[in-house]
Amino acid sequence: MNEFELIRQVFMPVAVATANPAVRLGPGDDGAIQRLPPGSELVFSLDTLVEGVHFPADYSPRFLGWRGLAVAASDLAAMGADPVCFTLGLTLPYSDDKWLKAFAQGLSDAAKQFGLALAGGDTTRGPLTLSFQVHGTVPAGTAILRSGAHTGDLIGVSGMLGDACAALRWLDEPSPSHHARTLLGRYHHPEPKLTLGQLLRGTASAAVDISDGLVADLGHILAASGVGARLIEAAIPRSAALMALHGEESLAMALNGGDDYEICFTVAPDRWSSLEAAANRGELTVIGEVTAEPGLWLSDGHQDRPVHSTGYDHFGADE
Ligand code: ADP
Ligand code: MG
Repeated sequence: MNEFELIRQVFMPVAVATANPAVRLGPGDDGAIQRLPPGSELVFSLDTLVEGVHFPADYSPRFLGWRGLAVAASDLAAMGADPVCFTLGLTLPYSDDKWLKAFAQGLSDAAKQFGLALAGGDTTRGPLTLSFQVHGTVPAGTAILRSGAHTGDLIGVSGMLGDACAALRWLDEPSPSHHARTLLGRYHHPEPKLTLGQLLRGTASAAVDISDGLVADLGHILAASGVGARLIEAAIPRSAALMALHGEESLAMALNGGDDYEICFTVAPDRWSSLEAAANRGELTVIGEVTAEPGLWLSDGHQDRPVHSTGYDHFGADE
């Protein structure tokens, strides 16, 4: 397939399958056109995934299609945006029909589930790299920023932490156990918390999605808001699978492991119970509180110790 056949045969069907009325013009022209509801603002975010950096070489194309869009959509969730559409920048070393078909399937499954229409893209030859630009909308002024946390706010997280990071140890396991398969599912098939993000809009004072690890990503809220935090070690939510397979290491994985795409947020204490009641049962956990004193502290019930991020930094020092 040449470039134009590839777009027509592989990506046009995805655009058709995911179309929504907010996209007035999808792929095929020099640009796409998105309708904006009156009084709304556009929230947009770009994520790039590079083979060998963000996913292993020879990674399943079906998982890649899902995961790439999920990672990008997670930023919309953290902003509290309603998902609308996305564009795809695809760089491929060669055109492989089987690979493209599987990739388009994973992409289409994710786009349908997240409510994101494929509105356009760019297709080039080179080392395998994917860029997803995702668009969402919010009523003007209501997007959740990292900078809104106040002293005394509770710190909450969704779901369980550390599973996706632990899954990296099991990627090459020929016959993974039930627990290992649970962890692998969290890595291959992340679910961006879009519904929760919409619920947090107007309630949470700040939010971030956990892509680089709780400590690193909560650190972004603390830095942007000019506050500190104290976390309760025993409250950090960890799955039965993580505890069973990585008992001793599970805390470090939950604190510093990336790729979970859960949401970490801050909220005034008097708004917690209504938020918890509106969320899925058991989805939210209070893990600590925002403090005036800067820094991030972890309490084991007896004493507080400072915690530092070991999250991934593409341009960080090697040690
Ligand atoms: P131009 O040269 O004007 O930038 P292109 O030839 O790159 O246009 O793309 C032609 C059309 O195909 C555009 O509407 C573009 O959005 C769409 N397109 C290109 N690659 C993809 C892709 N991978 N997925 C969806 N649409 C794509
Ligand atoms: Mg053009």
